[in-house]
Amino acid sequence: MNQPPVQILDGALACPVCRESLYLHHSATRVLNRIQGEDSDGVRISAPGGFEFSLKLVPFAEIPGRRDSVEIDFWCETCSRWDAKRTVGTLRIMQHKGATQLTWESVAAPL
Ligand SMILES: [Zn+2]
Repeated sequence: MNQPPVQILDGALACPVCRESLYLHHSATRVLNRIQGEDSDGVRISAPGGFEFSLKLVPFAEIPGRRDSVEIDFWCETCSRWDAKRTVGTLRIMQHKGATQLTWESVAAPL
C-alpha cells in the first residue's frame, strides 16, 4: 500500500490521514543507530513516553534501509479524537542514497 507523502504547511506537519489537521502530537519515538556503519547490526533506543525507555540490539536484517533512522508516532486531535493511543502514523526520517528522506509508515485507516 502506498503511503501518503509527508506534507508540511507553513512549517507544520499535516496529518497523514485527514490531510487537513496541523494539530499532531508525537508519542513514542525510536532511534536506530548502526553500530559499525551502513549494513551493520544496530541498536534501537525506544521512548514510548514518560520516563520509560528501552535499549535493544537489532540484527541488520531487521533494520529498514542501510543507515540510521528515527521514527516518531503521531496522533491527531481530529482523527484520533483526542485519544493519544490512536496513532495516525509513524514518521520515519532516514538517510537513503545520500539524501535524508521523510516518509509516513504504518498510516491508520480513517475512523
Ligand atoms: Zn487527522
